Formats: sequence, structure tokens, C-alpha cells
Amino acid sequence: MRVVVIGAGMAGLACAEALADRGCAVTMFDKGRGPGGRMSTRRVETPAGRLSFDHGAQYFTARDPAFLAQVRRWQGEGLVAPWTLAGEDAWVGTPAMNAPLAQLAARLGVRFAHHVMGLVRVGGGWQVRLADGACHGPFDAAVVAVPAEQALAFLGAHDLAMAGRAIAARSQPCWTVLAAFAAPLPVASDVVRDHGALAWAARNGAKPGREGAETWVLQAGGSWSAARIEVEPEQVARLLLAELAALAGSSQLPEPTYLAAHRWRYAMSAGAAATALWNPVLGLGACGDWLLGPRVELAWLSGRALARRMQTRGDNLARGQPVMEGMVPGGGIEPPTP
Ligand SMILES: Cc1cc2nc3c(=O)[nH]c(=O)nc-3n(C[C@H](O)[C@H](O)[C@H](O)COP(=O)(O)OP(=O)(O)OC[C@H]3O[C@@H](n4cnc5c(N)ncnc54)[C@H](O)[C@@H]3O)c2cc1C
Repeated sequence: MRVVVIGAGMAGLACAEALADRGCAVTMFDKGRGPGGRMSTRRVETPAGRLSFDHGAQYFTARDPAFLAQVRRWQGEGLVAPWTLAGEDAWVGTPAMNAPLAQLAARLGVRFAHHVMGLVRVGGGWQVRLADGACHGPFDAAVVAVPAEQALAFLGAHDLAMAGRAIAARSQPCWTVLAAFAAPLPVASDVVRDHGALAWAARNGAKPGREGAETWVLQAGGSWSAARIEVEPEQVARLLLAELAALAGSSQLPEPTYLAAHRWRYAMSAGAAATALWNPVLGLGACGDWLLGPRVELAWLSGRALARRMQTRGDNLARGQPVMEGMVPGGGIEPPTP
């Protein structure tokens, strides 16, 4: 079975890996410049040297037995480490959050900087159209593994039940500020939760496997971010730096050696009470954290669940049997796992 996967975050990669392990020919496109999606890591060159910041997910939990087994395998390969400061069951990628995704993406040959603009039905299969006008295909099945608001553009033209789920799933934004300093700030804890506008502040360099530079990641709460979504990044950076100054017990911090703000428009989904969406007639699936909830672990579970559901179509194609299994009531929406 030839499968195209749009989006190489944790969900898309988890799905693609399982499909590839079962012999599917998987082609993956991601509009980002590098691996990670919302688990990405920003690397910057400064006069003081190279810095890196986990600017999306800060850590992840591993509670599901299958995901925990996967995390342990990554741990054995040096790609993740526990970070108990964030929680008893908290993990981070090492030396950066995107490490496990970078390895998966390399194995699967993800084509980065490929922005998919259209998913088109051609001759009983699928073709993707890219922003630069190029077309790829045909594919027997298509997986949409992007946030709900972006998935809608692909699902809306083909499956109204899936599109309805995507419309109902609302995400909250998150303003994230990245700051580096020449010397350690007098903030006692490496992790601070819920302080003023800050939902989270962490000394990035203090995470396992980092080089220890005085780097901070500041993330504002959803409501605060939504109220300032169109504010200029420089202004947001100064507002959140003032919160960090308060944590340091100072009215003014030393000037950062690096300062940037990133606006995540679709940071945290409220979930859509499903694990994965699959239309066996069209060979169209959707996975991602927007179905189960805004956590790395749930994105992985969603991707794996979709791959399992797609297997029947792959088996039928391999045997030369028709793939018209009949429409599943509700558009093939699988109920969430308990
Ligand atoms: C600021 C922030 C903090 C977070 N903190 C935590 C945390 O502490 N713990 C936790 O467990 N989770 C956290 N999360 C949530 C976690 O990051 C997500 O649940 C998870 O990474 C989602 O994975 P995904 O594969 O579903 O989506 P994504 O990671 O968003 O992957 C989707 C991919 O699709 C690509 N894409 C989108 N549109 C297109 C297109 N048209 N063409 C090609 N490619 C496209 C994107 O570039 C992206 O790589 C946080 C998220 C954010 C933003």
C-alpha cells in the first residue's frame, strides 16, 4: 500500500513508522524546516555560541504501557531521559526535545519544507499538491496528521463527518518566549508553574543532556495568549520577561544575549473524543493530538491507532481484493480508548 502522510509531528511519525514496519511504502511531507512539529527545538547562533531551546512541548509523560515501552527503547538509544523535576513520569528528548522525532524522520525520509496545499482524489487514489505547484502521487491512502484547524482544509472536501470533528476541536494558542543571559539569574527553581501570565517557565539549560547555558523558555497561559494573539512578538517578549524579572526578585533583568517570541496559534487542542479517524472507502485517515488531547503521548497513541485501523486496507490491496469494506457509521470514527 502506498501511503502519503501530511505532517511529521509525533502522530504522523508514529503512524508512518507502524505502516512502514508492515511493508507499506510511506511518503511524508512536512512544511517545517526540520523535525519536531510542536516538539521542535530552535537552535540559534549567538556571539556567545550556539544555543538551543525546546520551544514547544517542555516534557512528556509516558503512562500507556505501549508508549512507555517505546520511550524505554528511546532511552536505550540515548534519545530521551527522565526529568523528574517536571514530574515523576516526565521525560524529555536528549540532547533536545526533538531527538526521537529527528531519528524517526531520518529513517522515514521525511521531506521537510514541503508545504502541502491540496489533497486531491485522482482515479480512486490520492495526489498531493504542494505550495510550489509540484504534484505527488498516486497514493492508495492518505493520512492527515496536522492540527485540527489545518486538517479541516484537507478533510472538508472529502469526508464531512471527519471535517465536523475537526471543526468542533478548538485549540488554544500559546505565546512562547526564548531568552538567554550571559550569567545565571537569581531564580531559585529551574521550573516554575502558574506565575502571573506565565503558565510555565523553565531553565532550558538545566534539562538532562543540555549544555547548561542560562537559557529560559517562558510560556504564557492560553487565555493570556489568546487575548494578545496579534500583539507584536517584541512586545510579548518584554511582557513575559517582566514576569521572569519578578521571579528573580528584580525590577529589571540584565539585557538578554538572545530574545525571541514564538506564537503557537494551535498549541493545545481540547480533544475530539476519538482516537483516530479512518474512512476505509476513501482510504483517508486523520490522527493527531487534537483527537485525544494535547499531549505528546496521546499524539503517539493516535498515530498508532490509525495505523492499526488502516491495516485491513493494506492487507486487501496486497491480496488484490477490493477495498470497499463499506462505510463505517459515523464516518469511521473510532471511540476514544478508556
Ligand atoms: C507551547 C506548547 C507546549 C506544550 N507542552 C506540552 C507538554 O509539556 N507536554 C506534552 O505532552 N505536550 C505538550 N504540548 C503538546 C504537544 O506538543 C503535542 O500534543 C504534540 O506534539 C502534537 O503532535 P502532532 O503530531 O499531533 O502535531 P504537530 O506536532 O503539530 O505535527 C503536525 C505537523 O504537521 C506539519 N504541517 C501542518 N500543516 C502542514 C501542511 N499543510 N503541509 C505539510 N506539513 C504540515 C507541521 O509542520 C507539523 O510538523 C505542547 C504544545 C505546545 C505548542
